[in-house]
Amino acid sequence: MNLISMFDESASRWPAKTLLHYGDQTFSYAGIQALSLRAAQVLREHGVGQGDRVALMCFNTPYFLVAVLGALRLGAVIVPVNHKLQKPEVEFVLRHSGARLCIFDGALSELASRLETPALLLSTGESPRKQDAAFDHFDTQVERTEPGEMPPLVADDALAQVLYTSGTTGQPKGCLHSHRNVFTTALICSAALSMTHNDRMLIAMPIWHAAPLNNWSFGTLLMGGTLVFLREYTPRGFLESISKYGITLTFGAPIALLAPLELADFESHDLSAMRLWIYGGGPLGEEMARRLMERYRSTQFMQVYGMTEMGPLGTALFPEDALRKAGSIGRSSLPGVQVRVVAGDGGDTPAGRIGEIQLRSEAGMLGYLGDPQATAAAYTADGWYRSGDLARVDEDGYYYVVDRLKDLITTGGENVYSKEVEDALSPHPDVADVAVIGRAHPQWGETVVAVVVARPGRQPDPDALKAFLADKLARYKIPRDYVFVDTLPRTPSGKLQKHLLRTSVAGTPA
Ligand code: AMP
Ligand code: MG
Repeated sequence: MNLISMFDESASRWPAKTLLHYGDQTFSYAGIQALSLRAAQVLREHGVGQGDRVALMCFNTPYFLVAVLGALRLGAVIVPVNHKLQKPEVEFVLRHSGARLCIFDGALSELASRLETPALLLSTGESPRKQDAAFDHFDTQVERTEPGEMPPLVADDALAQVLYTSGTTGQPKGCLHSHRNVFTTALICSAALSMTHNDRMLIAMPIWHAAPLNNWSFGTLLMGGTLVFLREYTPRGFLESISKYGITLTFGAPIALLAPLELADFESHDLSAMRLWIYGGGPLGEEMARRLMERYRSTQFMQVYGMTEMGPLGTALFPEDALRKAGSIGRSSLPGVQVRVVAGDGGDTPAGRIGEIQLRSEAGMLGYLGDPQATAAAYTADGWYRSGDLARVDEDGYYYVVDRLKDLITTGGENVYSKEVEDALSPHPDVADVAVIGRAHPQWGETVVAVVVARPGRQPDPDALKAFLADKLARYKIPRDYVFVDTLPRTPSGKLQKHLLRTSVAGTPA
């Protein structure tokens, strides 16, 4: 189904219902629908047509949603851009996607002024309109423009989005998703969460990410539910939004659920309407899962695992398993998404062995933009998407992510999972941050190297670190070399860029 047909159906069922809360602003379904018609007309007047790419570098704000719906109504393709990116990174995305027009949050006006692509700004409280006089304001134009006659909606299989991956293995790649893909993602999520029009979903994570946009925002629009946008996550804003709006569903990275526990007045927030806490994007161990449940006084926690390429659906760990299978990403459990773990020989892996997670999904991408080679390499001969994540499968079919395939170190014929070594070393009191990588070695194939950021004022001794690991890890897993650095390279969303470490560190003897 075309996403605008989907949205218009919800709007005709629930015209007066609140679609969106943002601070003290409230928008009904009919209200957002009317704005999206005007927005489409504004975009058309800026030369945007069917198939054109519109980049959006925004925080979670109402006019982001208006722009998305306006662009899709015209048959244009949205390109959400990470608002933390620096100029060369943004330029790469704009050039690579062939963006015809950009819409920037007003807080990013300085960056916008240094880019060549034509840009419109969204007004924000923080940047008064007159301050950005050099730019046209999208929201002002939308308010002033009468809706025009709209072209027919594009086919279900037409492109709707280019979503750029975070680039943990190199240049970001643009995942192509059709209207049908995103509709399918919304449908699968609403089914998996038993969402109804009574749900109120807090979007606290950046909306340019696949999950907040496709799973939770489009899923809510499909069901006629209510969205609450938090411009930018803060632990306090998160709790206050949940209390204020009687939120029933929300999603966050594990740290986004853990950080609010540190607030002195945590207990004073009313979280009683919440029916499901969803977390994902990274692992959460049993101890942390237990802590969340105790402090939030709820057992209703669901973990999701996935990736931008798959829309981003992979697996879910449902609340009844949250403690029993803590640390697991669940098993094949989402309708329309098949999952398998394949060991080196190509067959499904027997329980206990480790293999690559592969997926086949109705919501899976069409491919990578302009990169048929990378697209071909991303799939097996029989059409399964290769996640590049390594997992162990237990006897009940639950998956435990152990490492990224590219981060696996092979030393003397033994496999070392870098994540296991990092997890063992990071509790050391002198260690602030650590990445474990392989360094080429003529005899051993590779040796294990730890790249360590010391805590301020500490100077950890490699022998002491080795001793610390001695009763925790097999000898072959213990890093032989220790390299000390000030910071580790990470993507703007916080994922380690080990390929950069491999070139900068692994070549140099410690
Ligand atoms: P992205 O490219 O930003 O979509 O990130 C996808 C990657 O994040 C996956 O391939 C995994 O490596 C990681 N990931 C996502 N969800 C989880 C999770 N629940 N547990 C562990 N790792 C995850
Ligand atoms: Mg990826």
